Amino acid sequence: MVLKIGVIGTGAIGQDHIRRITSTLTSGKIVAVTDVNKEQAKAIVNNLSLDAKVYDDGHELIQAEEVEAVVVTSWGPTHEEFVLSSIAAGKPVFCEKPLATTAEGCKRIVDAEIAFGKPLVQVGYMRRYDKGYRVLKNVIDSGKIGEALMVHCAHRNPSVPDNYTGDMAITDSFVHEIDVLRWLLNDDYVSVQVILPRNTRLAAQGLQDPHIILLETVQGIRIDVEVFVNCQYGYDIQCQVVGETGIANLPEPSSIVLRSEAKLSTEILVDWKERFIDSYDVELQEWISSTLKGEVNGPTAWDGYVAAMTSDACVEAKRTGNIISIAMGERPEFYTKESAVVEVT
Ligand code: NAP
Repeated sequence: MVLKIGVIGTGAIGQDHIRRITSTLTSGKIVAVTDVNKEQAKAIVNNLSLDAKVYDDGHELIQAEEVEAVVVTSWGPTHEEFVLSSIAAGKPVFCEKPLATTAEGCKRIVDAEIAFGKPLVQVGYMRRYDKGYRVLKNVIDSGKIGEALMVHCAHRNPSVPDNYTGDMAITDSFVHEIDVLRWLLNDDYVSVQVILPRNTRLAAQGLQDPHIILLETVQGIRIDVEVFVNCQYGYDIQCQVVGETGIANLPEPSSIVLRSEAKLSTEILVDWKERFIDSYDVELQEWISSTLKGEVNGPTAWDGYVAAMTSDACVEAKRTGNIISIAMGERPEFYTKESAVVEVT
């Protein structure tokens, strides 16, 4: 069986996903594409020799008879309308993060999906598909380190582009920790505090960097995350879970251990795309397989809503300096299915 997919947005990640679905993964076929820059969409079709129709607009693509499932990789502010339109058409949709740019927008999607009555939406939080995070989750779930008590994390980028401004350290970078940590711990957040250390001189004018973000969970687990996006030395994601009887660390990406010139060294990645490249493959392959079975087994619209609510609370905590409560409300019955058992191969 092959899933016939339409892609809305053929920018950087849209092109990556089209390539992986076409050349690396199985059981998926790109049959339709669209972008506000139609010439760009046409160029992808031609360059990859795709047997795919180029549509004028995302809604038209969603309605197209040959499109069985939709991938939304357009600009963030357009995500909500395309996901709502896919739900209205009854078509499964994989939406890159953010699900919507506001928590209210995410909630409208949650309400629409529940009203439709069948899970259709998956959000592109790919860290859940990273081999290292999956091994770490298996260790926590096995009980080998007892109950988790504390988590120490770091999210470091060597530098960020000029268009990385305002609160993007929270809304664009830290949002990945927001999603992956509650999945890792099978928990939810109740409050957040943001501490602003001395600013690095190497950040752009007006950009706060670094941040320390402190989260508390329903079970009382304390999480501290350093978000430092001009650290210069590399792209470095750290996560250490302290349990009652042991400590589990996220594995380092594999690298040659080099003995040379009287030094023992390993390389540190500098590009975030390299760090999670395999995760994107696993994420999209599992989405295709689940969709063909009529299931959603990845991050749901509810997870997208939780990420938006938590991210909003972090921004408020940063602005006010206060500890901010995160009042999510009860997770609807519709979303209570536990995600599939994680297999590490
Ligand atoms: P990008 O290169 O700017 O691509 C977005 C594309 O969507 C552009 O070609 C843009 O056209 C097009 N577009 C905008 N409005 C549209 C509309 N109404 N209909 C159709 N196409 C439209 O951005 P990107 O880096 O690929 O990011 C896209 C999304 O993926 C963002 O939400 C981003 O947060 C997310 N993302 C997620 C990850 C992850 O790790 N999960 C990584 C990267 C990106 P114009 O350029 O002409 O406006």
